[in-house]
This record gives sequence, structure tokens and C-alpha cells, in this order.
Amino acid sequence: MTNLTNEEIWKTVLSEMEMSLSKASFITWFKDTRIVSKENGQIVISVPNGFVKEWVQNKFNKRIFLCLKQMDENIREINYVVGNPFIKLPDSKILTKEIQLEQIQEISVDADIDPKTNLNRKYTLDSFVVGTSNELAYAASFAVAKNLGKVYNPLFVYGGVGLGKTHLLQGIANKILKESPDKKILYIPTEKMVSELIEGIKNKTIEDIKMKYAQKDVLIVDDIQFLAAKESTQDIFFATFNNLYNRNKQIILSSDRPPKALSAMEERLKSRFEGGMIADVGIPDYEMRLAILKTKMRDKPISLPDEILQYIATNIQKNIRELEGALNRIVAVIDLTGREPNLRDVEKLLKAYIQASYRKTSAQTIIKTVCDFYGISLNELLKKSRKTFLVKPRQIAMYLLREDTKSSFPDIGSRLGGKDHSTVIHAYRKIIEEVDSNENLKQEINLIRERIYNKA
Ligand code: ADP
Ligand code: MG
Repeated sequence: MTNLTNEEIWKTVLSEMEMSLSKASFITWFKDTRIVSKENGQIVISVPNGFVKEWVQNKFNKRIFLCLKQMDENIREINYVVGNPFIKLPDSKILTKEIQLEQIQEISVDADIDPKTNLNRKYTLDSFVVGTSNELAYAASFAVAKNLGKVYNPLFVYGGVGLGKTHLLQGIANKILKESPDKKILYIPTEKMVSELIEGIKNKTIEDIKMKYAQKDVLIVDDIQFLAAKESTQDIFFATFNNLYNRNKQIILSSDRPPKALSAMEERLKSRFEGGMIADVGIPDYEMRLAILKTKMRDKPISLPDEILQYIATNIQKNIRELEGALNRIVAVIDLTGREPNLRDVEKLLKAYIQASYRKTSAQTIIKTVCDFYGISLNELLKKSRKTFLVKPRQIAMYLLREDTKSSFPDIGSRLGGKDHSTVIHAYRKIIEEVDSNENLKQEINLIRERIYNKA
């Protein structure tokens, strides 16, 4: 549908907007608006004054974007200009569509983040749906929130991408703060902690940072698998952990795998992690998926019949983030078009959603993800070294490149630092043979794939 004129495209957007607004607001915000250019995925819309510009940008940008996107897949960015519509904008940075979509999601999520605590207000234990796949983790979280530092220390929650770890960890924090607002809690994603520590070492403020952590009653570190094999950060974390632990302060951690499987983690840290309570969150069954959808519908602007929710719950099984993503997408489109929701539309929307989320990957993404997963650098992966901790990631990278990008063996070899194609074939066969009999290897490969395709 890309051969529509700008005028036709804008008319379609306007008619969609008109359906979802009162006549008065529609005229107020959309009178005298039009598309002035559309180039390289960037659309420029002219509006009559600054007030309208601000309002349309803040309130309607997302809907306009979704609507445009349905007519032209290539659209990546919208710019609004006031008045003379024929001035060309300077080349602004062109966003990829993923980033643009992510940003939209972030904007809608941001409003829920409490700037003081960095916690999402929506992530509460009350809004966490409990089923067989997560009941132990939930019960342990609840117990910890009630008895800080007394029952399970540390609490270690693990599970795949999008299965509720962050929600649970923040739920604990929100509960504690609600019941005892004077408790000092730090919730921090591991990647942020690591960059804080590295900055601190560089700027010689590391003692202040250590002090900051040591003053907490509760330290919550999310995605601890990202604490890579950099000795200095693991050292500092180890010291911080012991310091808090010895004074009965509560420590809560999450990870994408159990402590034993954290290959970049020093033994002494792993054994600390194993010293408390370990609980996993797994893939929810159908009943639970449906319950989650019903919970998430509570704060949506429209309602959907059970039949549609059942359809979504049946078809999206992989994880909860994706389940919620599909629901949000469907709600947004139905809300946007103002049409009566029906199963046939939903089937179509869901199909598009599923295809988009299983998009193909690139060799670069695979290589980077493998390095991150094993906590090694790209250089190490490409080296000729035969050290076991490098050989295995290298073989897995070769296997994934072959399986998921269908590259030729010589291509894979040259990508991975000029290895001979026979080396690649050998590695590929080895992994294929091993993956059937070796549960751990299978799980590791699944985790890597999850990261590649979910980009959590
Ligand atoms: P993870 O940290 O494990 O990758 P998240 O905690 O970010 O996963 O969860 C992804 C999304 O799914 C969040 O929006 C979260 O609210 C939702 N979610 C996950 N588990 C549940 C649950 N049991 N009940 C309700 N919502 C959930
Ligand atoms: Mg998370």
C-alpha cells in the first residue's frame, strides 16, 4: 500500500482518529494538519501552532504511528512542524523501527516508574498471578517481604526471559515500602550496578558506592547473570554481599539460570547464592495465561470478550512478556480503530505479531549474545586458543550460526576469526550429537536463543 499519496495516507489516519475522538476534539487537534513529506521512513506532519504540536505529539503520536505503520511498514519516525510546512528538516537520526517501537513502549511504561525508587508501581505482589509455575517463588517472596533477613537469605529467583522475575522482585520492594516506608531498599539491575562500580573504580569514588550499598536494609539485584567475569566487580559484590549478609540485611537476586549454571561466576559467589532459598519461575500453563490476560485487562480502556482472550492464551505460550505484548497490541489497534472487537481481526493481528517477534536474526547478534552469555570478549571468541572455557562458546556460536542463519561453513569460519571450514563442520556435528544427550547443553542453547530472539 506504499503507493498511496501522502494526502490519501493522511486522510486514512484522520478518519481513524475521528472515530476515536469527539467531534470537537477532532476538529481542535486535527484541523489544518497534513503530511508535508515522507522520505526514508521519516514522515513530517505540519500542524497550525505550537500548542497543537505539543498536544498531538504527547497524546496522539502513538496512535498515529500505529496507524501509519499499518499502511506503510517502512515508517520509522514522525516529526511535527509548526507553520510553514515546506521547510526541510535537518537530517535527524533515523531510528530503526525496533527502536521506535521500543521507545513507544518505554514511554507508556515510564509513567509507572517511581523516580524516587526506580520501581514500577504496577509490579506488585497483588497484581502477580500465581500458578503452579511460580507458586514457590511467590510464596518465598511473600515470606521474605514479611520477615526481612530472617527466613531466606539470599532469595535467588531464576527463570527464562519474560517469566516475571523483575515483577516479583519489584513486588517485594513495593510491599516492603508500603508496610514500612522507612526501610532503605535498593533495587538495581546488574548492568547498572556494574557500570556504577566500574565508574567508581575509575573516579576513585568506589568507597562511597560501597558505603551506599552497605547502608541498605534490602539489596535487590536483578539479572545477576550479567555480573561478568570481571574480577574487580565480582570482588566488590562479594564483599558487599558478605557485609550485608553478616548484619542480617536481606539480599534478593534474580538470574536467567540457577547458580550452578552461572559459568562466569566465581565459586565463592555461587556457593553464597546457594546458601539461601532458590526458587524458579517457569512457563505458565493455559489457565494461568488466561488469568494473566484477565488481570491485565483491568486497566485497559476497552474490554474484550472471553473468546478473544482464550484465543490469545491458546496461541501465545512462550512467555508472559510476549503474552502481554500481544494483548497490548490488540487492544491498541481495536481502541484506535474504534471497531467492535471480533475474533477474525484478532487472528490476523496475532499472526502479524507472532511473525514480527520471530523475525530473523543476524550473525552479529548471535556472536554478541554468545559472548555476553559466557562472559567472554569478542577477541577471546575469535582467538585460536584451545582453552575449554573458550572452545565451548566458539562451538556453540558456530552451531547457532549454521542453524539460525543458514550460513555456509566457510562463511562461518571466516566470520569467527578465519577458522577452516572443516573446523566449523566438526564443531557443528559435535554440538548436534551432544545436544540430544546433554540436558545442560540443551538448556544453555535454549537460554542463548531466548536472549537472541527476545532481546529482553
Ligand atoms: P523477567 O524479568 O522474568 O524477564 P518480567 O518480570 O519483566 O519478566 O515480566 C514480563 C511481563 O510479564 C511484565 O509486564 C510482568 O508484569 C508480566 N508478568 C510476568 N509474570 C506475571 C505474573 N505471574 N502475573 C502477572 N504479570 C506477570
Ligand atoms: Mg527482568
